[in-house]
Amino acid sequence: MQFTVAIDGPAAAGKGTVARAVADEFGFAHLDTGLLYRAVGAKAMMRGRGVIDAEIAEEIAKTLSEEDLTREGLRTARVAQAASKVAALPAVRAALLAFQKAFAKRKGGAVLDGRDIGTVICPEAEVKLYVTASDEVRAARRYAELKAKNPDTLLETVAMDLRQRDIRDASRDVAPMRASDDALLLDTSELSIDAAVAEAVALVKERFGKA
Ligand code: C5P
Repeated sequence: MQFTVAIDGPAAAGKGTVARAVADEFGFAHLDTGLLYRAVGAKAMMRGRGVIDAEIAEEIAKTLSEEDLTREGLRTARVAQAASKVAALPAVRAALLAFQKAFAKRKGGAVLDGRDIGTVICPEAEVKLYVTASDEVRAARRYAELKAKNPDTLLETVAMDLRQRDIRDASRDVAPMRASDDALLLDTSELSIDAAVAEAVALVKERFGKA
């Protein structure tokens, strides 16, 4: 059985939570594709001593290992910025394409969350969701997450990181962040995460029954 759920949207809108909940509910495998770009970005920064070189980033993307995805420190705002920079490089995206496409088609069902899943990775996905929320709500959520790990975190810095990434991710030439025309829009600004999960689960249930 093959069944793909594609979940896209900007950072801190709740797509990861929705993706994990849907995967748990239906026993599907889950891939957080942002982690791929974070792993490439983190390694490229390390190799370039803080500066990203496009050729090095491409080589890292081509040889990315499972171990790279489980390294500590991939969730910081610094790594998020590096991820967004390497994600704008066409060669890096090309190198990560086959792995994501194969994951989407794995037997037993798959949920992928990211920025281009419904538009580029899996345009034929059975379910497509675009999870979004206002800038203020997203910044407050990410701030709470990061503050719990690092008390020095500032709300304004978090808000700026999200703003910069949104602009870069939405305006790049290759696979820009956008909702697929056939995606269901879930705005979680005023919707609790539980309610968003319930909507997503209901939609998957409806389509899954027909698959
Ligand atoms: O989702 P997350 O915040 O972890 O993603 C980090 C960065 O990776 C994003 O800002 C974006 O630039 C990039 N990304 C992407 N395409 C995806 C997933 C993430 O370009 N499918």
